[in-house]
Amino acid sequence: MSTAWKASRVASSAPTIFAEMSALAVRTGSINLGQGFPDTDGPDFMLAEARRAIADGINQYPPGRGIEELRRAVADHARRHYALDYDHETEVLITTGATEALAAAILAFVDPGDEVIALEPFYDSYAAAIELAGGVRVGVGVFGPDFRLDTEQLRAAIGPRTKALLINSPHNPTGVVLDTDELGLIARLAVEHDLVVITDEVYEHLIYDDAQHLPLSTLPGMRERTVRISSSGKTFSATGWKIGWAMAPAELITEVTAVKQFLTYVSGAPFQPAITKALNEGDAWVAGLRQELQDKRDHLAEGLRGIGLDPVIPRGTYFMTTDVRPLGYTDGVEFCRDLPGHCGIVAIPHQVFYDDVEAGRPYVRWAFCKSARVMDEAVTRLRHFTP
Ligand code: PMP
Ligand code: GLN
Repeated sequence: MSTAWKASRVASSAPTIFAEMSALAVRTGSINLGQGFPDTDGPDFMLAEARRAIADGINQYPPGRGIEELRRAVADHARRHYALDYDHETEVLITTGATEALAAAILAFVDPGDEVIALEPFYDSYAAAIELAGGVRVGVGVFGPDFRLDTEQLRAAIGPRTKALLINSPHNPTGVVLDTDELGLIARLAVEHDLVVITDEVYEHLIYDDAQHLPLSTLPGMRERTVRISSSGKTFSATGWKIGWAMAPAELITEVTAVKQFLTYVSGAPFQPAITKALNEGDAWVAGLRQELQDKRDHLAEGLRGIGLDPVIPRGTYFMTTDVRPLGYTDGVEFCRDLPGHCGIVAIPHQVFYDDVEAGRPYVRWAFCKSARVMDEAVTRLRHFTP
C-alpha cells in the first residue's frame, strides 16, 4: 500500500495492545494475563437462552435501537440498582459493545478541535475514537504509585475548547473506583462549564470490599448532560457477544443513535434475548461472580507478593497493577516483551495507556479473571524468571 493512501485521522492506528498481546500468547503458548476476558462462561440460563434464540430463528436484523425487552431490562436494571429513571422507549440504545457506544457518543458530540478530558491512563479505544472525531484528548492523571485522581489537574485541564468529559470508573487499567468527593467535583465542574459527560461504567458490578459504584448521572445537574455507557461483556462473562448500551435523555440518545445506525446498524440479534434474561434474573449470579473475583484478586496478589512484587490492590475491575522494578526492569514495555519468551506469560504494560509515558513506565497490568490454577502456574513461572 502506498503510504499516501492512509488517512491522517488514523495516523496512529496500529493493532491494539490487546490484539498484539493475545496473538503473542497464542504464538508462544503463554498464559494470557493480558487481555481482560475470563476463562469461564456466564450463567447457564443465559447461554441456553442464546441457543434457544438461534434455534427459534432470531437471526435477522433486530430493531436499530435494540429489542424492546432488552431496552426495558436495561432501564429496570438502572432503576433497581441506582434509582435512575430512564424511559426504555426513548432513552436507551443497544450497541455493539460499550466500544461502539463510546465511539458513537464521541462522534456525536465532538467536533474537530474540541477537547475531551479523560482519566489517564486511558482505555485504548478512547484515544482512537477521539482521533476519528478530530478531537483532542486531554489527560488528567490517575498516576502511580498511589493511583489517585489528581483533582487539581482536573480543574486546570478545563479550558475554552473543552467539550466533554469521558469518565471511566471503575477504571481500567488501575482498578480505581472514584469516591463520592471525586465524583462530586467532576459533576460540579461539568455543570459549571456546561460540558457533555460520557461515562464508561462497564465494570459497574466488578467492585470489591466496601467499594460502591455511584453513576455520575445520579448527581445534581448530571442526568441531562450524561451519556451512561455499560455492557454485558464483563458483568456476565460474555466479552465475545458484544452487547452494550447507552442511556441518556432522549435528545442525546437520538444523536448517538444517528451515528450508531451507520456504524453497525443493529447489534447481535440472538444475544439480545439472552442478555435480557441475564439482566432480569442474574443479580444473584453477578453477586457470586463478584465474590469469586475478589477471592481471585487476593489469590493473585498473594502470589505476586511471594515473588517480591507489591501489587496495588484494585477496588474494581479485574486488573491488578505492579511496579516491575523489583524484578530488575525499569520499563514495563521491555518487561512485557521479554516475559512470553523467558517464562511463557503475557501481561499488559501500562505505558500504552499514557500520553505521559514516564508516568506509566514501570507499571504492568495483570488480569485476575482466570482460574486459581492458571494464576498459580503463572506465579510459579514468574518465580523462575530472570531478566
Ligand atoms: N471500556 C473499558 C474500560 C473496557 O475495559 C472495555 C473492555 N471491555 C470496554 C470499554 C469495551 O467493552 P465492550 O467489550 O463491551 O465493547
Ligand atoms: N477491555 C479489555 C481489556 O482491557 C480488552 C478489550 C479489547 O481487546 N479491546 O483487557
